[in-house]
Amino acid sequence: MTIAASLAEVRERMAAACRRAGRAPQAARLMAVTKTVAPERIAEAIAAGQALFGENRVQELEAKRQALAGRAGLEWHLIGHLQSNKAARALAAADSMDSLDSPALAARLERLAAAAGKRWPVMIEVNVAGEPQKAGVAPAALPALAEAVAASPHLDLCGIMAIPPEAADPEASRGHFASLRAMWDRMKSYAGTRWELSMGMSHDFEDAIEEGATLVRVGSAIFGARAPRT
Ligand SMILES: *Cc1c(COP(=O)(O)O)cnc(C)c1O
Repeated sequence: MTIAASLAEVRERMAAACRRAGRAPQAARLMAVTKTVAPERIAEAIAAGQALFGENRVQELEAKRQALAGRAGLEWHLIGHLQSNKAARALAAADSMDSLDSPALAARLERLAAAAGKRWPVMIEVNVAGEPQKAGVAPAALPALAEAVAASPHLDLCGIMAIPPEAADPEASRGHFASLRAMWDRMKSYAGTRWELSMGMSHDFEDAIEEGATLVRVGSAIFGARAPRT
């Protein structure tokens, strides 16, 4: 299947999930996740109308942004854990940092954005199931971090992102998506210029949309299975 055909199928499944949930067909946007995907294949997605992309690593984001610099109107989000020593490069390369996960990182990003004279879009990543191997703040720590980010004049708090555990039982993932939706509703007063709920990946984006996602992050369902990183 071509990338254009996979994208069309994902978009159709997203619209169907919106309809099932009684939401407008465009209520959820698609972020194409391009980790390990070569620029030539990303260009096929761009040709098929995709403009919003996500990368986990700063270096890979920089390289792809550079390789595709001739294309107008692209938006690149960083969606992986950011080490503080890469924060300045991330600020220069990414249009949004969706995986903010600590007060210390928020303070650092605020200083860097102030120095660069920017207001930088960020989202807070929540570790909804408290998994030790995953990044993100604990749900109990979300309100304090949201308040701190909202009070940072050079950060624009644009939403919440999460990667719930991949459960064998779809009802369990639904429970995580529903609790994220509830947190997102409760934190709305901290919203900056947007208020996104970024949840759902290739294996569960339809469930996430039915539970209220406004943004889904899909990689392998568009670009095929990834080769392991070397
Ligand atoms: C890789 C990745 C995705 C997409 O995963 P797929 O299962 O390929 O759709 C989404 N979000 C994050 C944070 C990722 O690292």
